[in-house]
Formats: sequence, C-alpha cells, structure tokens
Amino acid sequence: MLPLVQLKGVTHAYLGDREATLAIEELNLTVDKGEFVSLVGPSGCGKTTLLSIISGLLQPSRGDVYVGGHPVLEPSAEIGYMLQQDYLFPWRTILDNAVLGLELTGNLNEETRRRTLGLLKELGLEGKENAYPSELSGGMRQRVALVRTLATGPKLLLLDEPFSALDYQIKLQLEDLVAETLLRRGTTAILVTHDLAEAIAVSSRVILLQPNPGRIRRIFTVPEAIRSTPPLYARDLPGFAELFHTVWKEMELAGRGD
Ligand code: ADP
Ligand code: MG
Repeated sequence: MLPLVQLKGVTHAYLGDREATLAIEELNLTVDKGEFVSLVGPSGCGKTTLLSIISGLLQPSRGDVYVGGHPVLEPSAEIGYMLQQDYLFPWRTILDNAVLGLELTGNLNEETRRRTLGLLKELGLEGKENAYPSELSGGMRQRVALVRTLATGPKLLLLDEPFSALDYQIKLQLEDLVAETLLRRGTTAILVTHDLAEAIAVSSRVILLQPNPGRIRRIFTVPEAIRSTPPLYARDLPGFAELFHTVWKEMELAGRGD
C-alpha cells in the first residue's frame, strides 16, 4: 500500500537579508494511512517548518511532499492543521466557529452541519453550541478547534503542540480523547510536541529531529502494548519509563550536537 505521506529529500532554507538559515536538510519520511506519529526534538530543529511544508502553507526550497499520492502545492481541506492557540473568533458561537472550515471551503450544508453537531457531541461539547468562546475553558476551546479541523473530513491531521498551553490534568484527558477520536475515524496524524511522555503515549513512532540543520536523528517504534493502551494508562506500563529515558538521552545528545 502506498503511504499516505511521503517526504522526499525535503530541504528548506529561510532567506534573510544577510544570511540564510538551513532549517531542514534532506529529510525523507513516510507515514502510513491511519498512523499517528510524533515529531520531537530540541527547539529550532525544524518541527514547525516541517508541518508548514506538509500542510502546503510553505513550499520547500527543494524536495517533494506527497499526500495521498498527490504533490502538495497549496493548503487543502484534505489536510487539517491545528495549532497551540485555538484561534476561535470571539464573536461567533461555538457551532459557527466549528463550521468555519466548511464555510470557507463552500461545503457547509444541512448534512455537514449535522455531522459537525455530532462531532461536538462526540467531544463532550453538547449544550455548548450556542455559547461563545469566552464562556468556555481552555481545554474546551481546544476541543472546538479540533472539531473545526475534523469537520472538513481531512485525511491527514497536523497538530503543532495543541496541548501545551493546558493544565496537566486537562492535557491528559484531551490526549486520550484525541487519540481515541482519531483511531475511531482512522485519521492519520502527525503531532509536534516537546513532551516526550505525550509523544510515546499517543503515537506509534516517535521521530527525533536534531537541529542545525534539521534532520532525522532517530526513529523510535513504540511497542504494541503501549500503543494499544489509552494514553493516560500507557504511562504506567512496563517499558514506558525505559523508552522515555532512551529517547530523553538521545534528545540531549541531539541538542548538544553530539
Ligand atoms: P521548531 O519548531 O523545531 O522549534 P522551527 O521550524 O520553528 O523549529 O525553526 C527551525 C529553524 O528555522 C530555526 O533555526 C529557526 O530560527 C528558523 N526559522 C523558523 N522560522 C523562520 C522564519 N520565518 N524566518 C527565518 N528563520 C526561521
Ligand atoms: Mg515550533
């Protein structure tokens, strides 16, 4: 089977007035359909740059990106991108925020509105449809942002530190909910996080990048037992702490440039 995401020799340099920053160099990666992978690595190793490239917002200086076998040349409804900040419009109700993506892509109709209401319910937001963002907690707003991203039915979901601004307890609950929702829908996802425990708990592979220039340093496969356990409980399984320390040590070396 063809992988859903294919990166071939992706290289990106940011050009400034006086110098160029080589953010990513010669990156090759494939992600299978339905897979949930995490990107981790020291700050500045190119994680956000890579997500922007996969989303089609940024064209790489060199190399090719394919999603579903087609080259990615611009953003599309097939690829959902969710950021750390929820970016909900304060003057729109929760439902009106949730259908925004559908509206912008000209896909809002009775059917898709009904499905969005179903998604809000699935993510525990029933009864909040007519509320405004200011009336919701941070965790709830992130769930609305997730519904908005999922409402257009993306094949691929890109998540850039979506949980990092939340309280620990809420973050754990949301990790569970997101992992379960994506698994049920069979959505492929790439998560950027600086939280190694989160990466190991939710994904099937942890991809460690190293900076200057951004390259893949190592890919860790998460054992099946951990992968098939809900994130909240996965942390208590044998093997979790060992894997955490292995990735941690390798990330330290990556940060030092060893
Ligand atoms: P991460 O998300 O892993 O912290 P980024 O992708 O944000 O890394 O950045 C990778 C490298 O590219 C860093 O050296 C950063 O300073 C540089 N960079 C990121 N965005 C820009 C930009 N818009 N202009 C110039 N340099 C940038
Ligand atoms: Mg970043």
